[in-house]
Amino acid sequence: MTSDLAPARLRVAPSPTGDPHVGTAYMSLFNLAYARRTGGAFVLRIEDTDRARYKADSEAQVTQTLRWLGLPWDEGPDVGGPYGPYRQSERLDTYKPFVDRLVEDGHAYHCWCTPERLAELRKEQERSKNPVTGYDRLCYGMTREQRAQLPGFSENPVVRMLVPDDVPLQFDDLIRGTVSAPRPDDQVLLKTDGFPTYHLAVVVDDHLMGITHVVRGEEWISSTPKHLLLYRWLGWDAPAFAHMPLLRNPDRSKISKRRNPAARLLWFVEQGYLPEALRNFLQLLAYPPADGESEVASFEEFVAGFEWSKVNTVGPIFDIDKLNWLNGTYIRNLSVAELGDRLVEFVREHQRPLTDAEAAVVRGSAAMLQPRLVLLSDALDQLTFALTPDADLVVEDDARAQLTDAAPHVLDTAIGTLESLGDFSHEGIDEALRMALVTGLGLKPRVAFAALRVGITGRRVSPPLFESMELLGRDSVLARLRALRASL
Ligand code: GLU
Repeated sequence: MTSDLAPARLRVAPSPTGDPHVGTAYMSLFNLAYARRTGGAFVLRIEDTDRARYKADSEAQVTQTLRWLGLPWDEGPDVGGPYGPYRQSERLDTYKPFVDRLVEDGHAYHCWCTPERLAELRKEQERSKNPVTGYDRLCYGMTREQRAQLPGFSENPVVRMLVPDDVPLQFDDLIRGTVSAPRPDDQVLLKTDGFPTYHLAVVVDDHLMGITHVVRGEEWISSTPKHLLLYRWLGWDAPAFAHMPLLRNPDRSKISKRRNPAARLLWFVEQGYLPEALRNFLQLLAYPPADGESEVASFEEFVAGFEWSKVNTVGPIFDIDKLNWLNGTYIRNLSVAELGDRLVEFVREHQRPLTDAEAAVVRGSAAMLQPRLVLLSDALDQLTFALTPDADLVVEDDARAQLTDAAPHVLDTAIGTLESLGDFSHEGIDEALRMALVTGLGLKPRVAFAALRVGITGRRVSPPLFESMELLGRDSVLARLRALRASL
């Protein structure tokens, strides 16, 4: 897209600590939107420096779900790019010289305190309600030998940043304007295992990868002063920052994977949401459409009108009813053929294997189900009747209870009519059965068709009757109606 704005480089930087959070998709969407808006680039970087929380399959889940959502990156661990590697664990040599430089320049220092001493210090500060919290700088200014004389010493030091008293606590945010953050602690930059912490790695990588805009969740606001200090100490220009509001449950609590299944990005895949519907929904969470604009908008439309200043700073409510409505809308906007393909693919991937004949039934049901589906996963249950061999169809008790005294006559008449019907389309079936049962026998449609529904589906409630018959085909319909007739 051509733009009046300078090409921006943005990134999403998930930590592979479990299956991806819906927030990762939310962040990716805005980063990508602005990259496209300016004709710049969108980078995927894997921030895997926390080895204790690392989960091996998490990165693949991130890439699969973001691809599924249609949020592709221009550079990343799997596609490469000029600033690689894009996994932080593969960049350890890159970080080390910057840590050394910060120590040499007096902006950072070694700390040999054991985790036990730090835990004790924290407890002590809590007990005494000491307004000063955080590291007490015991190690600051000491040599290794000096520190080794004191208790709570460990052989492998970490490196901490020396946060000055006059650390700037305010910064400009593209969404929020001037933001104030609390005074940071002497943050660890390099851990005993030789891995950088997030705070060091994020600054070094954003700089070396030419990131111009850091767009991330509001939980990182309090870290930004540390990052800005690092930029200053290393002599680098800081990028622009935009902190997106966190997604909230209807009770305004933060969406967490523990409490809300919809926090898991994979949940949407498993439930049978269409990726384009979820993406549209996430777009709407940023800002409501302006007067006269539709809530249904493609990614391209979203990009064309994208502006940081429009983004709400109040945590958007994650309203599943709205998402369900959007999903139904997108399902109805698909061509029948496309919906058929998606249904088959969904059932096979997430529900059960299908033979070719069964896949043909599922595909053939698309026109019938299209007006009624909310989720792709709803289809299989509605198609149980059609996927059950005629001989195995069970008539449920509450369905059988629907049958009236007229049932034998209705069934005989319907069987006769359908045996000789030329056009076995749902329109043809509809017309012929109405003629025979409603006009011919003088029955109320409800009574006449209830018996047929019970016969062909075994259920009281089913998808539209005549379309269900067309889907089953004449032989199967006749076999089922005859079986019910014989059981009366
Ligand atoms: N690795 C951080 C996360 O998982 C990225 C934060 C950022 O974008 O700076 O949220």
